[in-house]
Amino acid sequence: QRQDHSATALADGELAGIAAAPGEALGAAYYLHRARIEVSETSLGIAEERARLADGLAQLHARLDHASDHHAAEIAAAHRGILNDPALAEALDARITAGASAAMAWQAVMGEEAEALAGLSDPRLSERADDFRDLEQQLICILIGKETQLSAPAGAIVIADDLYPSDLKPLADAGIAGIATMRGGATSHLAILAASAGIPMVAAFGKQLCDVEEGELVHLDGDQGRLRRGLSDADRDALARHMADRSARYTRALEAAQDDTVLASGERIEVFANLGNVEDAQEARALGAEGSGLVRTEFLFLDRATPPDHDEQAQIYRAIFACFDDKPVIFRTLDIGADKPASYLPMEAEDNPALGVRGIRIGLRYPDLLRTQLRAILSAAGARTAYIMAPMVTGVDEVDALRAMLDEVVSELNHTGPAKLGAVKLGAMIETPASALIAPVLAARLDFLSVGTNDLTQYTLAVDRTNSEVAAMQDPMHPGVLRLIGLAGEACEAAACPLGVCGSAAGDRVAAAVLVGLGVRELSASAARIPELKAHLRGLTLATCRKAALSALAAATPEAARAAAAGVIDADMNDNCDGATPVPHTKDEG
Ligand code: PEP
Ligand code: MG
Repeated sequence: QRQDHSATALADGELAGIAAAPGEALGAAYYLHRARIEVSETSLGIAEERARLADGLAQLHARLDHASDHHAAEIAAAHRGILNDPALAEALDARITAGASAAMAWQAVMGEEAEALAGLSDPRLSERADDFRDLEQQLICILIGKETQLSAPAGAIVIADDLYPSDLKPLADAGIAGIATMRGGATSHLAILAASAGIPMVAAFGKQLCDVEEGELVHLDGDQGRLRRGLSDADRDALARHMADRSARYTRALEAAQDDTVLASGERIEVFANLGNVEDAQEARALGAEGSGLVRTEFLFLDRATPPDHDEQAQIYRAIFACFDDKPVIFRTLDIGADKPASYLPMEAEDNPALGVRGIRIGLRYPDLLRTQLRAILSAAGARTAYIMAPMVTGVDEVDALRAMLDEVVSELNHTGPAKLGAVKLGAMIETPASALIAPVLAARLDFLSVGTNDLTQYTLAVDRTNSEVAAMQDPMHPGVLRLIGLAGEACEAAACPLGVCGSAAGDRVAAAVLVGLGVRELSASAARIPELKAHLRGLTLATCRKAALSALAAATPEAARAAAAGVIDADMNDNCDGATPVPHTKDEG
């Protein structure tokens, strides 16, 4: 099935997939075929097969202990979680008791799990099927004593039906240049590992990928999700030059990444990073983040049997603060809900989880959970300014209730804590049309606002952000979304309330300029985007951004809005300096 999630039309000889890991590669296509190992063997007896399984699992666990970086370590931890699941052990034992060999039992149980996951509509869940298939094949190889080690020539663009997370390291060690797969998606563990190894990847090309010939020179674009075939010598030379320019520009951007961001017309823009954990914070600082506009604290609360207690939270929040000296760090209160379920909350299944009990609604429904989190953030902040932000706000009652709870916690800590707290600033996310429409009331009551363009787009356009069938419609450049952000911009200016953006539009070259033109003065993007985003903003004037915003607001469609704004930016950049810096137009976090 063909999927085109990209912003621009396809050129001749171009195939469209889903951008999974950023960067470009030019190289010879190399087909990687995995021989799937099927076993059929008879049981040597229940006790013997139980022992073989236990021994194989011990070897598999030992492999998972050798993670190369923090992404690999997190994925290994997820794999350990799968292996340690008591329900899995039960299912395996039932099969062995019924007469299956260890390998047959393993293949059957893991196959069923993978199948069940693969059928789910949320790609964040369905892409986990590959983790089960990966573990299935790894243990089978261990049990039958046949190790298959994938390899490919250095500089190759690997073409495969799908790859497993454990395939990445040997391929990276072999020096491959890129990965194109028929299946898979942007949120698979393979994609995360490819991005952290700096290997561009595009997934979900479908059967059309088979048209590529072995050894053919292809260009893979991991930012746009494209693969280009049929390259002439002139194309090849032009692409090689373009990639060399790009990498030189990136090196320059990286050299200036720690400097402040000042527009060519003199206005300061704060460029912040979105974070999910302490490692993200370290990476963000190294890449020039001047603070964090969004700490997604919910990651601490998911995939566990009990919520983290005060001390566990405070320790992590302290470590995040420590990465940013005295720069601002905005902690969003836990944004869990029925689609990001926490097993310890007694939640009913919901027909429309995105419209159900999530975001600040959860926090107010479970006040002890929220109060503990506020206490942990404030005690970690100590004398520093604490920025606290509410997710999924739709009305003033919600922020008033949060303010009241916060005031209580502040006065309690000021009485009992070791020292007086620093300033406390309360903000809200503009992620629903309602919150954008009442921005004047919110701006008057709160210390700052921040637009979550991922959810604001989802709710404005009625486009489920987890449904790949409508992924192409999830475009924050829709003039309807931009108008809502414009309302927030006007309200914040009138109330002198700082306005930021922490959705993925903040890291997009064209959208970032439009957002600044709409009144945004703080952009919080994923860390990898920061150096180029800063370099790009330094080449723009506020007048250009305003002109780009006006032209986008006046457009009829997202495509026309993007083209109009890009036209304004490119024309003005040509007047100013060395041309447009290609911060890619991708939707990396939605
Ligand atoms: C958003 O919705 O834009 C946002 C930043 O929050 P999240 O992506 O975590 O829902
Ligand atoms: Mg959101």
